[in-house]
Amino acid sequence: MPNEKELIFSVQGLRKWFPIQKGMFKRTVGHVKAVDDVSLNVYKGETLGIVGESGCGKSTLGKTMMMLQRPTGGAVLYNYGDGNFKDITKFNGKEMHDFRKQVQMVFQDPYSALNPLKKIYTSFEEPLKIHGINAKAEREKMMDAVLKMVNIQPDYLLRYPHEFSGGQRQRLCIARALEIKPRVLICDEPVSALDVSIQAQVLNLMKEIQKELNLTYLFIAHDLSVVQYMSDRIVVMYLGKIVEIAGKRSLYNNPAHPYTQALLSAIPVPVIRREKKRQVLRGEVPSPINKPSGCAFHTRCPHRTEICEREEPRLIPDQTDPEHLCACHLYNKTAA
Ligand code: SF4
Repeated sequence: MPNEKELIFSVQGLRKWFPIQKGMFKRTVGHVKAVDDVSLNVYKGETLGIVGESGCGKSTLGKTMMMLQRPTGGAVLYNYGDGNFKDITKFNGKEMHDFRKQVQMVFQDPYSALNPLKKIYTSFEEPLKIHGINAKAEREKMMDAVLKMVNIQPDYLLRYPHEFSGGQRQRLCIARALEIKPRVLICDEPVSALDVSIQAQVLNLMKEIQKELNLTYLFIAHDLSVVQYMSDRIVVMYLGKIVEIAGKRSLYNNPAHPYTQALLSAIPVPVIRREKKRQVLRGEVPSPINKPSGCAFHTRCPHRTEICEREEPRLIPDQTDPEHLCACHLYNKTAA
């Protein structure tokens, strides 16, 4: 991560609630609070990892930050590079079109991300046409350049997606996201559909490309080893909320939140290293429709006390490391 930190995204109190409707008149009877009052910063050139169990809201957060899903509330301020922040939740069609040139998404499933009925050439040409690259020669030059970056031969453009392996398809998806020269990539579980042997190749390639193009990544994954390898800072989410944010080293060496501690204890360690005690999380993740009161983790937390059930802990910084924030009453007491 660069020393001079330039803010590129400032997410403020973001909410994405999905209404639950019932009956003939589709009355709203409740909400799935997928993202619930999330605030975070993303700095230029860094990889911000977002981690948590399935259903914690990490993918919805990524999609809402790109306006693939409209937020229920809050703001997503984006810096166009001149220090001029604009709230993308208020963008009109033209502004959104320009924004999408700068921020692209790489999805989990390379099998469905490429249209199986279209040659790669067509799938690659479409975004360039949409973004106003009208000369065919220029489009082809841009396509060749990104394919070279992901180590795929340009003549493969005339093939169909099924002619590629999973790893090649994900490399193609990365190349397509890069062709209009974005500044930010939001990567939603980009390697989880791939064989473990291929994952490392794709992750290394992403790291090389990031360095070469000075890209900023929002890297969403459930696999803590993958997030550790890729990220500079890490956000841990539970039931739509951030429970901990820290630099990678601080989070992995000194996890403060009991949920983070349990997640980290489940990562396998090589046998030659000291053994670590695994903390087994009891119970299922509660429903985001009916979240537990107070600290949403209290139904599974081995350290809960009486205050945990009635009062929601705030996300507060550590006194010695202001970049390490945690939302837990135990931690808050220590930090205070
Ligand atoms: Fe556990 Fe209480 Fe901390 Fe929540 S606030 S993580 S229940 S100790």
